[in-house]
Amino acid sequence: MTFSSLGLHETLVAAMAQQGYAQPTPVQSAAVPPAVAGRDVLVCAQTGSGKTAAFALAVLQRCKPASSAGFRHPQALVLVPTRELAVQVGGVLSGLARVAGLPVRVSVVFGGVSINPQLMALRGGTDVVVATTGRLLDIVAHNALDLGRVETLVLDEADRMLDLGFAEELERVLAMVPAQRQSLLFSATYSAAVRRLAEARLRDPVEVTIDTGMQAAPDIMQRAVTVDPSRRTQLLRHLVQQEQWPRVLVFVATKYAAEMVADKLRRAGLQAEPFHAQLSQGKRGQVLADFKASDVQVVVATDVAARGVDIAGLPVVVNFDLPRAAADYIHRIGRTGRAGLRGMAVSFVTAENAAHFALIEKRHALEVVRETVAGFEPEVALPTVSRDQAAGGVKGRRPSKKDKLRAAGLLPPLA
Ligand code: AMP
Repeated sequence: MTFSSLGLHETLVAAMAQQGYAQPTPVQSAAVPPAVAGRDVLVCAQTGSGKTAAFALAVLQRCKPASSAGFRHPQALVLVPTRELAVQVGGVLSGLARVAGLPVRVSVVFGGVSINPQLMALRGGTDVVVATTGRLLDIVAHNALDLGRVETLVLDEADRMLDLGFAEELERVLAMVPAQRQSLLFSATYSAAVRRLAEARLRDPVEVTIDTGMQAAPDIMQRAVTVDPSRRTQLLRHLVQQEQWPRVLVFVATKYAAEMVADKLRRAGLQAEPFHAQLSQGKRGQVLADFKASDVQVVVATDVAARGVDIAGLPVVVNFDLPRAAADYIHRIGRTGRAGLRGMAVSFVTAENAAHFALIEKRHALEVVRETVAGFEPEVALPTVSRDQAAGGVKGRRPSKKDKLRAAGLLPPLA
């Protein structure tokens, strides 16, 4: 398959070649032709599979050149869940437009920074907007954007965008874009409920599913190291040094843990930085830039870094704390093993989370061998829960005291 066989303009074909992409990835081959033809497309494909370029190509191809006199109203709107992803996706779109020599203006809007420069940048109008929903609504409230002429709507990380956390803002944005539009939805995972929501919003969609099972990510070596919870930081430090990890992205459950673990690693002599939603946007950008430039060796992050963030050649991801939602396991480990490179994902399994890890394995049809690291063998024996015995697990909700009492048989079960 070649880029020219996807129905793309010569300029875009040449631009992809110029950017070093010899041929389309499977998701590009499957999703670009219907998207270019104006169909709605629902894509379920592994993170790192080239999804961004897939919708960028379709959006740019479908952008009509602005009449020289008229004010430009956005023809395409790309919604993303995080600020970092907004910057990254905006960069892919504007880079591709520039290399292809297309006179398409791409604007990126996201919160956490002053709104004024973004308002100023929109004064001359724009063709494509990449946005996080909250800031987009603010900008519309300032009358700086009119979404009434959007022809193509892209939801990147669509399962997240359709999830409850974003539902209200998304509804408000959707009410502003024409009902007659093209919708392109991209994600690595879709829960059944989100899939139903997505399908209800699409018109006769073309569904593209590119192997999303973890077996389809042979480039990521998955490991599960058993350890006592209190020794995880030491174990992490040991592994970084012993296995000579040049860079590692470590996921923890809370902002507090991100600060604390990064601080401990720093005191142990590693270049480590926390990354979470409470840091200023400037600081978040700086940490990512330093990490990409290998000036920081360890980034300790909450799930705000789990989606979409593209750190070229990241060799290792560690689940210091396991993700609460099984789907986030895929998003997290998908930060490594990208673009054909090999990667490694190491999960710390403790007595408390052993059953949850078995559940993650079950959800993704995985079987990850438990290993111990000499000197860090757990003192507390781990419960042996096979993936087939694993059950339960409620996304986004920890068991309450009552749940635990109920599980211990000290309270009557729920009716
Ligand atoms: P994404 O799935 O959009 O996060 O993209 C993952 C990575 O794939 C990015 O680093 C892109 O630069 C890279 N990529 C996109 N398209 C291609 C292609 N056709 N061939 C090789 N790599 C690609």
